[in-house]
Amino acid sequence: MESTTDNRRKRWDTRLLRVKELADLHQPIASALRFYHLVLELQAEISSRSRLVFNPELPLRSQIDVAAVVSEMPALLSLSAQHGPEPLREAAHQWNSFGEQEWIQAIQSALDPARPLSAGPEDFFPRACLQPVAENLQSQLSEDTYTANNVCPVCAGLPQMAVLQPEGDAAGRWLLCSLCLRQWSFRRLICPWCREEDKDKLPRFSSEEWPAVHVEACDTCRRYLKAIDLTVDGLAVPLIDEIAFSVLDVWTADRGYTKIVPNLMGF
Ligand SMILES: [Zn+2]
Ligand SMILES: [Zn+2]
Repeated sequence: MESTTDNRRKRWDTRLLRVKELADLHQPIASALRFYHLVLELQAEISSRSRLVFNPELPLRSQIDVAAVVSEMPALLSLSAQHGPEPLREAAHQWNSFGEQEWIQAIQSALDPARPLSAGPEDFFPRACLQPVAENLQSQLSEDTYTANNVCPVCAGLPQMAVLQPEGDAAGRWLLCSLCLRQWSFRRLICPWCREEDKDKLPRFSSEEWPAVHVEACDTCRRYLKAIDLTVDGLAVPLIDEIAFSVLDVWTADRGYTKIVPNLMGF
Protein backbone atom coordinates (compact mmCIF):
# COMPACT_ATOMS: atom_id res chain seq x y z
CA MET A 1 0.00 0.00 0.00
CA GLU A 2 1.44 3.34 -0.94
CA SER A 3 -0.15 6.58 -1.81
CA THR A 4 2.09 9.25 -0.36
CA THR A 5 3.10 12.23 -2.43
CA ASP A 6 6.77 11.31 -1.92
CA ASN A 7 6.31 7.85 -3.37
CA ARG A 8 4.48 9.22 -6.37
CA ARG A 9 7.15 11.80 -7.02
CA LYS A 10 9.87 9.17 -6.69
CA ARG A 11 8.13 6.95 -9.24
CA TRP A 12 8.04 9.73 -11.83
CA ASP A 13 11.60 10.85 -11.08
CA THR A 14 12.84 7.30 -11.72
CA ARG A 15 11.04 7.25 -15.06
CA LEU A 16 12.37 10.68 -16.04
CA LEU A 17 15.93 9.72 -15.23
CA ARG A 18 15.66 6.47 -17.15
CA VAL A 19 14.22 8.01 -20.29
CA LYS A 20 17.14 10.47 -20.35
CA GLU A 21 19.67 7.65 -20.01
CA LEU A 22 18.03 5.64 -22.77
CA ALA A 23 17.76 8.60 -25.15
CA ASP A 24 21.57 8.79 -25.02
CA LEU A 25 21.91 5.06 -25.69
CA HIS A 26 19.33 4.59 -28.43
CA GLN A 27 20.10 7.07 -31.17
CA PRO A 28 17.47 5.92 -33.71
CA ILE A 29 14.67 6.63 -31.26
CA ALA A 30 16.32 9.50 -29.35
CA SER A 31 13.96 12.22 -30.61
CA ALA A 32 10.87 10.17 -29.67
CA LEU A 33 12.37 9.57 -26.22
CA ARG A 34 13.11 13.26 -25.75
CA PHE A 35 9.47 14.02 -26.54
CA TYR A 36 8.44 11.23 -24.16
CA HIS A 37 10.56 12.93 -21.47
CA LEU A 38 8.43 16.07 -21.85
CA VAL A 39 5.26 13.99 -21.71
CA LEU A 40 6.49 12.28 -18.53
CA GLU A 41 7.21 15.65 -16.93
CA LEU A 42 3.64 16.69 -17.62
CA GLN A 43 2.30 13.33 -16.41
CA ALA A 44 4.26 13.82 -13.16
CA GLU A 45 2.52 17.17 -12.69
CA ILE A 46 -0.87 15.65 -13.45
CA SER A 47 -0.13 12.96 -10.87
CA SER A 48 0.72 15.58 -8.23
CA ARG A 49 -2.58 17.37 -8.91
CA SER A 50 -4.71 14.24 -8.79
CA ARG A 51 -5.71 13.41 -5.23
CA LEU A 52 -8.71 11.15 -5.64
CA VAL A 53 -9.22 8.58 -2.89
CA PHE A 54 -9.90 5.11 -4.26
CA ASN A 55 -13.29 3.64 -3.42
CA PRO A 56 -13.04 -0.17 -3.54
CA GLU A 57 -16.82 -0.41 -3.98
CA LEU A 58 -16.69 1.22 -7.42
CA PRO A 59 -14.91 0.33 -10.70
CA LEU A 60 -11.72 2.34 -11.11
CA ARG A 61 -12.73 3.84 -14.43
CA SER A 62 -15.95 5.27 -13.02
CA GLN A 63 -14.00 7.12 -10.33
CA ILE A 64 -11.98 9.20 -12.76
CA ASP A 65 -12.97 12.86 -12.74
CA VAL A 66 -13.32 13.50 -16.47
CA ALA A 67 -13.60 17.29 -16.00
CA ALA A 68 -10.25 17.31 -14.18
CA VAL A 69 -8.69 15.25 -17.00
CA VAL A 70 -10.11 17.71 -19.56
CA SER A 71 -8.40 20.57 -17.72
CA GLU A 72 -5.01 18.90 -18.39
CA MET A 73 -5.62 18.72 -22.14
CA PRO A 74 -4.48 22.26 -23.19
CA ALA A 75 -0.99 21.77 -21.72
CA LEU A 76 -0.59 18.40 -23.47
CA LEU A 77 -1.82 19.78 -26.79
CA SER A 78 0.53 22.73 -26.64
CA LEU A 79 3.48 20.47 -25.78
CA SER A 80 2.60 18.09 -28.61
CA ALA A 81 2.11 20.91 -31.11
CA GLN A 82 5.58 22.26 -30.29
CA HIS A 83 7.66 19.14 -29.70
CA GLY A 84 5.71 16.10 -30.91
CA PRO A 85 6.48 14.01 -33.98
CA GLU A 86 4.96 15.40 -37.17
CA PRO A 87 1.60 13.54 -37.25
CA LEU A 88 1.01 14.40 -33.60
CA ARG A 89 1.80 18.08 -34.17
CA GLU A 90 -0.87 18.26 -36.81
CA ALA A 91 -3.36 16.39 -34.65
CA ALA A 92 -2.61 18.69 -31.70
CA HIS A 93 -3.46 21.76 -33.79
CA GLN A 94 -6.68 20.09 -34.88
CA TRP A 95 -7.59 19.09 -31.31
CA ASN A 96 -6.97 22.65 -30.15
CA SER A 97 -9.79 23.78 -32.39
CA PHE A 98 -12.17 21.21 -30.85
CA GLY A 99 -14.38 22.22 -27.97
CA GLU A 100 -14.31 20.69 -24.52
CA GLN A 101 -17.28 18.53 -25.45
CA GLU A 102 -15.18 16.69 -28.03
CA TRP A 103 -12.34 16.21 -25.53
CA ILE A 104 -14.82 14.75 -23.05
CA GLN A 105 -16.07 12.33 -25.68
CA ALA A 106 -12.51 11.28 -26.56
CA ILE A 107 -11.67 10.70 -22.89
CA GLN A 108 -14.83 8.68 -22.36
CA SER A 109 -14.08 6.64 -25.43
CA ALA A 110 -10.52 5.92 -24.20
CA LEU A 111 -12.09 4.86 -20.88
CA ASP A 112 -14.32 2.25 -22.55
CA PRO A 113 -12.76 -1.08 -21.47
CA ALA A 114 -14.39 -2.85 -24.43
CA ARG A 115 -12.45 -0.73 -26.89
CA PRO A 116 -8.71 -1.52 -27.22
CA LEU A 117 -6.40 1.51 -27.15
CA SER A 118 -4.90 2.43 -30.52
CA ALA A 119 -1.64 4.08 -31.55
CA GLY A 120 -3.42 7.16 -32.97
CA PRO A 121 -3.74 10.68 -31.51
CA GLU A 122 -7.38 9.97 -30.56
CA ASP A 123 -5.98 7.69 -27.86
CA PHE A 124 -2.60 9.31 -27.25
CA PHE A 125 -4.06 12.57 -25.88
CA PRO A 126 -6.63 11.04 -23.51
CA ARG A 127 -4.35 8.21 -22.43
CA ALA A 128 -1.40 10.47 -21.57
CA CYS A 129 -3.69 12.45 -19.23
CA LEU A 130 -5.47 9.40 -17.83
CA GLN A 131 -2.47 7.22 -16.97
CA PRO A 132 -1.24 9.24 -13.95
CA VAL A 133 -4.78 9.71 -12.59
CA ALA A 134 -5.57 5.99 -12.93
CA GLU A 135 -2.20 5.01 -11.48
CA ASN A 136 -2.75 7.17 -8.41
CA LEU A 137 -6.05 5.39 -7.83
CA GLN A 138 -4.76 1.83 -8.27
CA SER A 139 -1.62 2.45 -6.21
CA GLN A 140 -3.83 2.88 -3.15
CA LEU A 141 -4.69 -0.83 -3.32
CA SER A 142 -2.40 -3.47 -1.84
CA GLU A 143 -0.53 -5.68 -4.31
CA ASP A 144 -2.34 -8.72 -5.55
CA THR A 145 -0.61 -12.07 -5.62
CA TYR A 146 -2.03 -13.98 -8.57
CA THR A 147 -4.86 -13.65 -11.06
CA ALA A 148 -5.71 -15.80 -14.04
CA ASN A 149 -7.13 -12.76 -15.84
CA ASN A 150 -5.48 -11.50 -19.00
CA VAL A 151 -6.82 -8.02 -18.29
CA CYS A 152 -5.89 -5.71 -15.42
CA PRO A 153 -7.57 -6.88 -12.20
CA VAL A 154 -8.21 -3.26 -11.16
CA CYS A 155 -9.32 -1.43 -14.32
CA ALA A 156 -9.80 -4.20 -16.95
CA GLY A 157 -7.17 -2.66 -19.24
CA LEU A 158 -5.19 -4.79 -21.70
CA PRO A 159 -1.59 -5.67 -20.86
CA GLN A 160 0.95 -3.25 -22.31
CA MET A 161 3.93 -5.51 -21.70
CA ALA A 162 5.36 -8.24 -19.49
CA VAL A 163 7.86 -7.79 -16.68
CA LEU A 164 10.03 -10.64 -15.41
CA GLN A 165 10.96 -10.18 -11.76
CA PRO A 166 13.08 -12.29 -9.44
CA GLU A 167 10.94 -14.71 -7.42
CA GLY A 168 13.05 -16.95 -5.23
CA ASP A 169 15.62 -18.58 -7.53
CA ALA A 170 13.56 -18.07 -10.68
CA ALA A 171 11.70 -15.25 -12.44
CA GLY A 172 7.99 -14.59 -12.19
CA ARG A 173 6.05 -12.97 -15.01
CA TRP A 174 3.91 -9.91 -14.40
CA LEU A 175 1.79 -8.00 -16.88
CA LEU A 176 1.63 -4.20 -16.86
CA CYS A 177 -1.68 -2.43 -17.55
CA SER A 178 -1.82 -0.10 -20.54
CA LEU A 179 -4.12 2.34 -18.76
CA CYS A 180 -3.49 2.38 -14.99
CA LEU A 181 0.07 0.96 -15.13
CA ARG A 182 -0.68 -1.64 -12.48
CA GLN A 183 1.31 -4.87 -12.55
CA TRP A 184 -0.31 -8.20 -11.89
CA SER A 185 1.31 -11.60 -11.73
CA PHE A 186 0.51 -13.98 -14.55
CA ARG A 187 1.64 -17.51 -15.41
CA ARG A 188 4.70 -17.65 -17.65
CA LEU A 189 3.94 -20.12 -20.41
CA ILE A 190 0.56 -18.98 -21.59
CA CYS A 191 -0.45 -16.47 -24.26
CA PRO A 192 -2.02 -13.43 -22.55
CA TRP A 193 -4.31 -12.93 -25.54
CA CYS A 194 -5.72 -16.36 -26.53
CA ARG A 195 -4.40 -18.51 -23.65
CA GLU A 196 -2.44 -20.87 -25.88
CA GLU A 197 -0.31 -23.08 -23.59
CA ASP A 198 1.64 -25.20 -26.08
CA LYS A 199 5.14 -23.85 -25.69
CA ASP A 200 6.07 -24.77 -29.27
CA LYS A 201 3.51 -22.18 -30.35
CA LEU A 202 4.86 -19.48 -28.05
CA PRO A 203 8.11 -18.27 -29.68
CA ARG A 204 10.39 -15.89 -27.85
CA PHE A 205 12.55 -13.52 -29.92
CA SER A 206 15.54 -11.69 -28.56
CA SER A 207 18.83 -10.21 -29.65
CA GLU A 208 22.20 -11.03 -28.08
CA GLU A 209 22.91 -7.33 -27.93
CA TRP A 210 20.01 -6.62 -25.55
CA PRO A 211 19.53 -9.59 -23.20
CA ALA A 212 17.10 -7.74 -20.90
CA VAL A 213 14.35 -7.39 -23.50
CA HIS A 214 12.57 -9.99 -25.59
CA VAL A 215 9.42 -10.50 -27.59
CA GLU A 216 6.84 -13.01 -26.36
CA ALA A 217 4.72 -14.02 -29.34
CA CYS A 218 1.97 -16.54 -30.06
CA ASP A 219 1.67 -18.45 -33.34
CA THR A 220 -1.96 -19.34 -32.67
CA CYS A 221 -3.40 -15.80 -32.46
CA ARG A 222 -0.34 -14.00 -33.96
CA ARG A 223 -0.31 -11.49 -31.09
CA TYR A 224 2.74 -10.46 -29.10
CA LEU A 225 4.03 -8.24 -26.36
CA LYS A 226 7.53 -7.31 -25.26
CA ALA A 227 9.01 -8.29 -21.92
CA ILE A 228 11.63 -6.54 -19.81
CA ASP A 229 13.63 -8.96 -17.68
CA LEU A 230 14.62 -7.39 -14.37
CA THR A 231 16.62 -10.50 -13.44
CA VAL A 232 18.98 -9.57 -16.29
CA ASP A 233 18.97 -5.78 -15.82
CA GLY A 234 17.89 -4.68 -12.37
CA LEU A 235 18.22 -1.01 -13.37
CA ALA A 236 15.65 -1.22 -16.16
CA VAL A 237 12.41 0.72 -15.66
CA PRO A 238 9.96 -1.52 -17.54
CA LEU A 239 7.52 1.17 -18.74
CA ILE A 240 10.38 3.23 -20.19
CA ASP A 241 12.63 0.44 -21.47
CA GLU A 242 9.71 -1.11 -23.34
CA ILE A 243 9.34 2.08 -25.37
CA ALA A 244 13.08 2.47 -25.96
CA PHE A 245 13.27 -0.96 -27.62
CA SER A 246 10.68 -0.09 -30.26
CA VAL A 247 13.03 -1.46 -32.91
CA LEU A 248 11.85 -4.91 -31.79
CA ASP A 249 8.25 -3.88 -32.47
CA VAL A 250 9.15 -3.02 -36.05
CA TRP A 251 10.96 -6.35 -36.44
CA THR A 252 8.07 -8.32 -34.95
CA ALA A 253 5.39 -6.52 -36.99
CA ASP A 254 7.40 -7.32 -40.14
CA ARG A 255 6.95 -10.99 -39.26
CA GLY A 256 3.19 -10.62 -39.19
CA TYR A 257 2.51 -10.35 -35.46
CA THR A 258 0.18 -7.72 -33.97
CA LYS A 259 0.90 -6.16 -30.60
CA ILE A 260 -1.77 -6.72 -27.97
CA VAL A 261 -1.84 -2.98 -27.37
CA PRO A 262 0.56 -0.29 -28.62
CA ASN A 263 2.48 1.67 -26.01
CA LEU A 264 1.82 5.36 -25.33
CA MET A 265 4.36 6.44 -27.94
CA GLY A 266 2.55 4.42 -30.57
CA PHE A 267 4.92 1.45 -31.01
ZN1 LIG B 1 -5.33 -1.19 -15.09
ZN1 LIG C 1 -2.28 -16.35 -28.55
